[in-house]
Amino acid sequence: NNSCYYAGIDLGTSGCRLIVIDGNQVVRAEARVIYPANIAQTPDLWWAAVQQVLAELPAAIREHLRGIAVDGTSGTLLLADAAGNPTTPALMYNDARALLQAQRIAALAPRESGAHGVTSSLAKLLWLLEAYPDQPHAYALHQADWIAGKLAGHFGFSDENNCLKLGYDPVKREWSAWVKALVPEALLPKVYAPGDRIVESLVHAGTTDSIAAFIATGASELGDAVTSLGSTIALKIISDKPIFAPEFGIYSHRLGDKWLAGGASNSGGAVLLQYFSRDDLQRLTPQLRPEIPTGLDYYPLTKTGERFPHANPQWLPRLTPRPADDVQFLQALLEGMSRIEQEGWQRLHELGAPYPKTLRTVGGGSRNPAWMQMRAKLIGVSLVPSKHDEAAFGAALLACGTMQRSFQCA
Ligand code: ADP
Repeated sequence: NNSCYYAGIDLGTSGCRLIVIDGNQVVRAEARVIYPANIAQTPDLWWAAVQQVLAELPAAIREHLRGIAVDGTSGTLLLADAAGNPTTPALMYNDARALLQAQRIAALAPRESGAHGVTSSLAKLLWLLEAYPDQPHAYALHQADWIAGKLAGHFGFSDENNCLKLGYDPVKREWSAWVKALVPEALLPKVYAPGDRIVESLVHAGTTDSIAAFIATGASELGDAVTSLGSTIALKIISDKPIFAPEFGIYSHRLGDKWLAGGASNSGGAVLLQYFSRDDLQRLTPQLRPEIPTGLDYYPLTKTGERFPHANPQWLPRLTPRPADDVQFLQALLEGMSRIEQEGWQRLHELGAPYPKTLRTVGGGSRNPAWMQMRAKLIGVSLVPSKHDEAAFGAALLACGTMQRSFQCA
């Protein structure tokens, strides 16, 4: 039905993006707000940005919106009162102040819980409760939860993806007893599957920004894999069973009746930028000869320590010998990263995920055709183009419910 529209709103690290699609998944409108530089993000800033992108929609589209879903930065959390007014500041995804709280969680949480670590939303919740003891807190809400609540007109709901870092058990689909022992149960949101309709509103349950970006690529079947070649190399694949290997930093998210499993290496584009400018990369790339391997055996890292595919804080970078020729050096770096990626898929497979059947690529590195060629050969899988490279498109797919159906048929 082409006169129905579905909106996806992505709250990213630098701004807010809106994409509207029709029932055939065709993009019909887009809008974006970039946050001013050097300004701390606040819930008011997010909400103003959301209102602005929605206001930019043509009335003919705005009046025919049939669904809306929001994705947000993973682990960003605030507390709000019963009317949804913030009772604390929002602690951003990368805020690492909750050190003592993370230690308390470590003593109680099972190994495979997503709530471990100083940046988990559960650690932030404990920190906020201690820092603001006398406020009328009613709900703990992630960034996407709070915006979705503003749009729905009521609060207190979230999704299974955002809630992983709040200690939600995605296998049993419940808040475990150990979480309820740490925080007041009334603060914990009601948890929906991503894409589920929230009653009496146009809003559908959302997800995190990185899962929305995965969904946006069009990956939807068992064995569909996506590599993000950004500052680091992040792998995600659709699996029929969940995989939890905390020593490798591997967690799994529920997506319909399947699972999204993934891990991230410390290697990646950040190493390239230590040696080359973006212009250098652009200029040298056409001179690469992927069909003639350099024979060098690099393990590119910016510093000591790797988590996946090798869990070893003492793992050393290998970046020597350095050839005199910059093209050879760049090629050796890309070869090393391609091997790390291949080992990553192998590791995920050993732990129970399928080996990739199709492979999509996102991030800055995806613009390098020679690297794509090396990867396809080494990994032994066909690279397919992504449907879309914006997380907001993934959120729009959740809003129109087609993802629910495609993820649910096995
Ligand atoms: P992030 O958001 O993780 O910082 P991006 O997805 O924007 O990263 O990707 C940026 C990365 O892309 C940089 O680290 C850079 O090394 C890499 N990159 C940019 N251009 C190229 C290129 N031509 N070949 C390989 N890598 C590139």
